[in-house]
Amino acid sequence: MLKKDLKAIDRKYIWHPFTQMQDWMKEEPLIIEEGKGAWVKDIDGKWYIDGVSSLWVNVHGHRKTAVDNAIKKQIDKISHSTFLGLSNVPATLLAKKIIKLAPKGLTKVFYSDSGSEGVEIALKMAFQYWQQRGRDARRETGDAKKTKFMTLVNAYHGDTVGAVSVGGIDLFHKIYKPLLFRSIKAPTPYCYRCPFKFEMRDARREMKNEKCEMRCLKEVEKLMKRHHKQIAAMIVEPLVQAAAGLLVYPKGYLKGIRKLCTKYNILMIVDEVAVGFGRTGKMFACEHEEVRPDLMVIAKGLTGGYLPVAATLATDRIFNAFLGEHDSKRTFYHGHTYTGNPLGCAAAIASIDVFKGEKTLQALRPKIKLLEMKLRKFKELKHVGDVRQCGFIAGIELVKDKRTKREYLMSDKLGIKVIMEARKRGLIIRPLSDVIVIMPPLSISMVDLSRMLDIIYHSVRKVTEVPA
Ligand SMILES: *Cc1c(COP(=O)(O)O)cnc(C)c1O
Repeated sequence: MLKKDLKAIDRKYIWHPFTQMQDWMKEEPLIIEEGKGAWVKDIDGKWYIDGVSSLWVNVHGHRKTAVDNAIKKQIDKISHSTFLGLSNVPATLLAKKIIKLAPKGLTKVFYSDSGSEGVEIALKMAFQYWQQRGRDARRETGDAKKTKFMTLVNAYHGDTVGAVSVGGIDLFHKIYKPLLFRSIKAPTPYCYRCPFKFEMRDARREMKNEKCEMRCLKEVEKLMKRHHKQIAAMIVEPLVQAAAGLLVYPKGYLKGIRKLCTKYNILMIVDEVAVGFGRTGKMFACEHEEVRPDLMVIAKGLTGGYLPVAATLATDRIFNAFLGEHDSKRTFYHGHTYTGNPLGCAAAIASIDVFKGEKTLQALRPKIKLLEMKLRKFKELKHVGDVRQCGFIAGIELVKDKRTKREYLMSDKLGIKVIMEARKRGLIIRPLSDVIVIMPPLSISMVDLSRMLDIIYHSVRKVTEVPA
């Protein structure tokens, strides 16, 4: 197959996700053929740093021998067998490993294939839990009326209709509104984009964050007080709202939400899809504030970025509400054809073992420091409005006017221009609107990380500081 044929075929037959295809069809598609460590190579033989971890999934690099071998070994046994009414070896072993790593109290693993599905499952489990508990109680507890969800402004939990219903990013979600169930939206403490206008002046924002966090929690509590009889669960992305543009909560906010959920008898669903598996410097973001959720969703990094496996973890309290005689109809009637896929689970086991074997989290510490240090320089740039970091995740927000934080127009396509400039220089990244996202594999070397940040720095300058 000729390279130019491949490009033509792509343009002719493929519809890419989250991509304006009119733009895509005007340009040469970049087609990846190979990867090694933190690098990927296109069909023209050019190598790039994979600065987006193949969309936030890759952990130990591409072609990691231990993970490669685990999958090959599993292929020689069996590639798939159903998990409905049967079990398999890797899925069983993996479940034990996950529970050992997860926050205390989570005891059961329900598999699926993507973060969105994992979220749908958590929502359905929480919903059904209260229905069945209510049935049991037979008193006027009102549990069965708990049919609503509480979510945060700017939240992103996936693209399926249920996940979109608890999402809060207008750009992605607004058009589907007639299809969605209504959820109760609570404010986040990220003042800069605070829709409740608890806003602070930018320069003093960090100082006042703590105060703001309290105000936000108060607002959450007000809503809970009013609606708790109807609220089945609250869903949150722990520590940082990723797809919203890497909006980091101040310390204590997540823990505050946990306390309020407990106080008002609302289940807490934590969506660790983006931040799980080391991204924040700990295995799970919840650990930073010793939060124990009732339900937890993991996906992206679970298989080290190899195969689509997700899981929803639940407590005994929830699991037990689904037990009963066959005809009690308490079964959780949900499952996907590829649930518990043995190849994916074998990859996940190998990836988790690498964390321990290579002390991945320990090795990450100096890289987080380096990232922090190199980010400082960005703050001085004329069109950088904000720089946010949470462990090994960072976002650089580009603005038209640094003082007023006025944003660029969507038609300016600033984020896209910057990443295309970076691409010329050998780096693949992907923006969230005008936020440049830094999310390389945890295994990236100090040298490559440094190089990545230099490329971004020069690309931002080149694109934003040229005379118009
Ligand atoms: C990516 C993401 C999802 C959706 O996961 P998919 O595997 O893309 O369906 C859900 N929640 C968060 C926080 C995410 O970052």
